[in-house]
Amino acid sequence: MNRIAVFPGSFDPITRGHESILLRALPIFDEIIVALGENSGKKSFFPLNKRIEWLEKAFKKEPRISIQQYSGLTVDFCRKIHAGYILRGLRTSADFEFERTIGLMNKALNPEVETIFLLSSNEYAAISSSIVREIHKNGGDVGQFIPKGIKIQ
Ligand code: ADP
Repeated sequence: MNRIAVFPGSFDPITRGHESILLRALPIFDEIIVALGENSGKKSFFPLNKRIEWLEKAFKKEPRISIQQYSGLTVDFCRKIHAGYILRGLRTSADFEFERTIGLMNKALNPEVETIFLLSSNEYAAISSSIVREIHKNGGDVGQFIPKGIKIQ
């Protein structure tokens, strides 16, 4: 059976932290779907089409990574596309506490889906989309924090 993982997030914008988690997870799964979710409590800064365009560009050479958009519960999306795993990255203990709650709730909602966590590499642990947005809004160069070849303007 194909091991399909969903990597959900808002990717507002994609960072080298996201890229690193995805590339490290590739040997574990047959296929990874980067799932851009509509988060009801969080309005995105960058438009959806831009966020998708950057993700597609970042992984265009990797046929086992694809990008999809979804709304509703992540576990329902997993069921719909027959994904058995949710992939998440952990940077800090705050991430862990947050992810623990979501992971337990997702397990209760759909016991067939396992959440798999990868620890962020040290070099990327301080990178977050929100900090990248802040630097960008204030005219700073975000090049070193986002995947190579992507231009945010
Ligand atoms: P959300 O909107 O759900 O917080 P994000 O788009 O911010 O999603 O992130 C998606 C996933 O990537 C989450 O599991 C998050 O913890 C992880 N992630 C974000 N930045 C990093 C990083 N620098 N290193 C490792 N994982 C990260």
